[in-house]
Amino acid sequence: MSEQMDWSSLGFGYHKTDYNVRCYFRDGKWGEIETCSEETIPLHMAATCLHYGQEAFEGLKAYRCPDGKVRVFRMDENAARLQSTCRGILMPEVPTELFEEMVKKVVRLNERFIPPYETGATLYVRPLLIGTSAQVGVHPASEYLFLMFVTPVGPYFKGGFASNPYVIIREHDRSAPLGTGIYKVGGNYAASLLANKKAHDLGYACEFYLDAKEKKYMDECGAANFFGIKNNTYVTPLSTSILPSITNKSLMQLAEDFGLKVERRQIPEEELETFEEAGACGTAAVISPISYIDDLETGKRYDFGEKPGPISEKLYTHLRNIQYGIDEDVHGWTTVVIE
Ligand SMILES: *Cc1c(COP(=O)(O)O)cnc(C)c1O
Repeated sequence: MSEQMDWSSLGFGYHKTDYNVRCYFRDGKWGEIETCSEETIPLHMAATCLHYGQEAFEGLKAYRCPDGKVRVFRMDENAARLQSTCRGILMPEVPTELFEEMVKKVVRLNERFIPPYETGATLYVRPLLIGTSAQVGVHPASEYLFLMFVTPVGPYFKGGFASNPYVIIREHDRSAPLGTGIYKVGGNYAASLLANKKAHDLGYACEFYLDAKEKKYMDECGAANFFGIKNNTYVTPLSTSILPSITNKSLMQLAEDFGLKVERRQIPEEELETFEEAGACGTAAVISPISYIDDLETGKRYDFGEKPGPISEKLYTHLRNIQYGIDEDVHGWTTVVIE
């Protein structure tokens, strides 16, 4: 099969694989892990996920490494973040052991879809938790389905590590200061679709949000955290409305390991002027360097250069090399799933 796949043409889409894994929460407890080859789910029309957004997801990747092994990166962190989301929207927490067991199982079952190292493509793992039981009044469901599917995805940078323009869109908010921005729920994405389309229509890679209350501080992009570099310091926003990115958490650690200072604090928009480098970070790209950020309303442009900066490049390369088992994993972030 892997001979027949055209790995180089893969984008970030859905490609059918052989199996997904599922686990049901009923009568107050999680059941056995089930292996499934169906792509659809039978669902009650009054399920809470459909009406009241009782839905959470995660995203991580399995990497085929140069040593032939398949590794996943910090899946315990994805499990912990999902548990936080569960507490946030009243869903039963998925235990870390169950989460990790399902990641290993779904990756192993679909081994033939894991792209070879040289292609730069990876196997994306999508965990999904939904409220499935019927409810018409606004209440949490009593039954849930937790599933994971995988799909091979192409490299984020087709022509090599490169910078892209971003845009601050002030006329929309992604999440409220005390809302669900800190949880990985679909509702935040519904709230971002329109601003995201506007950004794309104008030729930008992605939209940026300011904090919703004061419209003064940098929050994050639609699906990635923000960081800036200046004076040998890695600066990233502290905010109650952004998603705690595992990539960002890892980059903060690596920056510290490299001897940089790390600051998590509010970043006023005007401070962008003083950054030597800026980037968006998340599982998809690791780092997507930013060439400039336009503020549509004020007409202001913050320029970081056409080419990725040296510190961004160094962080990117090292994190990627840890994920691929090339650089030593001193923090114990990776798990070998297939020997
Ligand atoms: C998933 C996500 C990120 C990136 O998180 P990673 O764990 O680094 O992949 C950033 N922002 C939002 C809004 C997200 O949903």
